[in-house]
Amino acid sequence: MGQRVFNFNPGPAALPLVVLERVKMEIFDFQGSGMSILEISHRSKAFESVVDGAIQRIRRLLGLGKNYHVLFLQGGASTQFTMAPMNLGVVGRPLDYVNTGTWATRAIKEARLLGKDVRVVATSEDREFTFIPEEVPLNSDAAYLHITSNNTIRGTQWSSFPGPGAAPIVSDMSSDIFSRWFDPAPFGLIYAGAQKNLGPAGVTLVIIREDMLERVPKELPTMFKYTTFSENNSLYNTPPCFAIYVCSLVLEWIEETVGGLDQMESINDEKAQLLYTFLDGQDFYRGTARPDSRSRMNVTFLLPKAELEKEFLAGASEAGLVGLKGHRSVGGLRASIYNAVTLEAVKALIDYMKGFAAKRG
Ligand code: PMP
Repeated sequence: MGQRVFNFNPGPAALPLVVLERVKMEIFDFQGSGMSILEISHRSKAFESVVDGAIQRIRRLLGLGKNYHVLFLQGGASTQFTMAPMNLGVVGRPLDYVNTGTWATRAIKEARLLGKDVRVVATSEDREFTFIPEEVPLNSDAAYLHITSNNTIRGTQWSSFPGPGAAPIVSDMSSDIFSRWFDPAPFGLIYAGAQKNLGPAGVTLVIIREDMLERVPKELPTMFKYTTFSENNSLYNTPPCFAIYVCSLVLEWIEETVGGLDQMESINDEKAQLLYTFLDGQDFYRGTARPDSRSRMNVTFLLPKAELEKEFLAGASEAGLVGLKGHRSVGGLRASIYNAVTLEAVKALIDYMKGFAAKRG
């Protein structure tokens, strides 16, 4: 195996090494079929058991009741910005959105493109999306309340969610799903592109509550209806088989190697705390998210002068630390420390940051 680096990419992102090794091992002969998972029919027993196994693990990890359906879709989380309002909008009831950054802004834009009555009920836009608004009205007349649980670009995260209100919560959990346990009860719909905590790019996880399926308008195009996938166990058409297979291995790793979401959360806490404690204890680097809204997945920070970023990134790359450039829309630096990023990687990053500060501070 060639040299593996410490990977802080925001997504597609690091995968657990054991998962990659398993993929390598099974690539020529998946479970004695004499074929790889890339070559077998999505209608085969072997593939159906991959899908069913992944769904069961998701149910167990989150403690989902029978009233939730777990679906694998395509089109990325971005397609959900359209599908959610298209399927779950109710005539005469506004759609409430909390705007906490780029992805929420895109979700709002897509709902408006559909001609929906969108209300932005809380936003942190006036302070460059550096925090999660604390006052979020739970309006009973809304068809749903849309939030983005973790804001990948600005490095902010909801530390807890609103409890069950009159309107179901719809959440984009692309960048923190399976990083912690949460009570699913208030959520009518959860969606997440897989390429951060769950697996490779190409598949989108959708968790939808039974009562939400009743809202799906019959006249929607087949491929845009949640019911098409819930009624066919995500196998209405050819699904992204390989991506789902890798997700199933990542889920197995979370459940069996890590030991579940509570354990996953405490590992993630330890990593994030280490990095934030370092940031707070010095004055060369400056964290950009308000401390009470900090993300445990994406740690965003600035150097004293933007001109130093190139040198910081080049040195990091030489030290085997990659993916630390901030999103092109905001600049700065960002360490994405998703589930598969190890404590060792975070320690190596801090060591490098200390050395760089000593040299340039
Ligand atoms: N939502 C969030 C929170 C994201 O981080 C991203 C991608 N980085 C998206 C949505 C868009 O996802 P996709 O590229 O799968 O459409």
